[in-house]
Amino acid sequence: MKVIRTIPEMQTSVKQERREGKTIGFVPTMGYLHEGHLTLLQKARETNDIVVLSIFVNPTQFGPNEDFDAYPRDFERDEKLAKEAGVDYVFYPDVREMYPKEMSISVSVQKRVDVLCGSKREGHFDGVATVLMKLFNIVNPDQAYFGMKDAQQVAVVDGLIHDYNFPIELVPVETVREEDGLAKSSRNVYLTEQERKEAPALYASLQAAKERIGQGEQNPQAILSFVKNYIETHTSGIIDYVQIYSYPQLTEMDKLEGKLILALAVKFSKARLIDNITWTV
Ligand code: AMP
Repeated sequence: MKVIRTIPEMQTSVKQERREGKTIGFVPTMGYLHEGHLTLLQKARETNDIVVLSIFVNPTQFGPNEDFDAYPRDFERDEKLAKEAGVDYVFYPDVREMYPKEMSISVSVQKRVDVLCGSKREGHFDGVATVLMKLFNIVNPDQAYFGMKDAQQVAVVDGLIHDYNFPIELVPVETVREEDGLAKSSRNVYLTEQERKEAPALYASLQAAKERIGQGEQNPQAILSFVKNYIETHTSGIIDYVQIYSYPQLTEMDKLEGKLILALAVKFSKARLIDNITWTV
């Protein structure tokens, strides 16, 4: 496994691999790897000759009052896990390498960002789209793997790939969870012991709501109230949002039918957690 810190070296390496006819699977991350990331790497490993993992905590997708500085980082540990996962290249640039000067062209996401995290984290998806445009051009992959834990991100990346004609197949991967249902996240380390005990209630609330819909509840407002009440009763977290939309269009529905996403964000003392489920009614 090779760790690469510069853009030209990454580009030269993949060019060489491509010349030899190798396919490239790409897993972009912000590091502090957990089983969610490792599952993406495993999928990439299964279908590609070469696996590239990027580790970059991207400043342009964090708001001024968000946790860019505090975001957990441990490269040595990540390097070890990446090696065990059979990664061929770790692309690990620093901020100056990725953003050497102010950019002269900016990327602005127009659709599917006025809801969910997009409406709560201003500019977040512009930052995500910016760094992915760069990473796609640097790594030039055949397939790129993204977790459904960030379902809105999957929808935005789908738009980016189609609108800008990247010859890349987007591969969405199911959310990987702890045994008690909590979605794996690098930010879970910032939960207090008590909050960690409460946090499985997020997924439990989504599952309970899904069951209600399965039993015939068709009113979106009734479902949202149910989930909010469940979270308020079972956790000390502050609800940032609970929303239900069609997926992947992310449009409102009068009646719950077709493919849905039920998603939430809840703020605990030091970590804002997100979770969602998508399914067809
Ligand atoms: P991050 O490092 O949080 O930016 O995540 C990098 C990639 O891993 C994104 O595509 C995430 O959606 C994905 N990911 C993060 N957590 C999970 C999880 N629990 N299950 C599946 N994929 C995940």
